[in-house]
Amino acid sequence: MKYALIALLLVITLLGLFTCPAKSTIAADVYDVVRVVDGDTFIASIDARNVRVRLIGVDTPESVHPNKAVEHFALEASAFLKKLLEGEQVYFIYDQNNSAINHKDRYDRMLAYAYRARDSLFVNAEIVRQGYGHAYSKYPFTRLEEFLKYERNARHHKLGLWAETDDYPALSDSLVWFNAGSNKYHRESCRYTTAKSLSMSLSEAIAKNYQPCKICQP
Ligand SMILES: [Zn+2]
Repeated sequence: MKYALIALLLVITLLGLFTCPAKSTIAADVYDVVRVVDGDTFIASIDARNVRVRLIGVDTPESVHPNKAVEHFALEASAFLKKLLEGEQVYFIYDQNNSAINHKDRYDRMLAYAYRARDSLFVNAEIVRQGYGHAYSKYPFTRLEEFLKYERNARHHKLGLWAETDDYPALSDSLVWFNAGSNKYHRESCRYTTAKSLSMSLSEAIAKNYQPCKICQP
């Protein structure tokens, strides 16, 4: 009986040794990057399937939209993501805000935060930090405030997209959007900007004493 008890305790201890550390140090699954599509989208190989991944919380100028001309800085944004991810492996973290839609957008792209496997570089944040895209406030995500801070910093230091060039001297006086009957102004990407919203220049909005939206913080 005594030996049986000792044996039982030993089994419990061993089980604890093998299960508990595994739970707390579990490694995230790592996936190959197949190719970069544009500044905020890439393809990863997940269980031998090519899955299109849309990075949460960031929006970069369009480069591959079939009906639009290539927007200012789109090629640079795309090249930047290639530099970060080509030939690399990544792991993903999801945002609880997207759990109801199964972490998929309406184009069936997987919505995720991506981290580069070899150094845990937070790819979504890096794009905004380096000025290759802005914080995307159209859909809620938990790290919005943090991303807006990165964007303000990139703008302040005139990084990437926010640099003034001869062709684009007026980015600092960008367009803002407002809705009839409201004195709040928004970014084009804000969830409150719709097809009915009207635009004016930022300097005009400020001159008219309009107030910046607290969500998109234009
Ligand atoms: Zn807004």
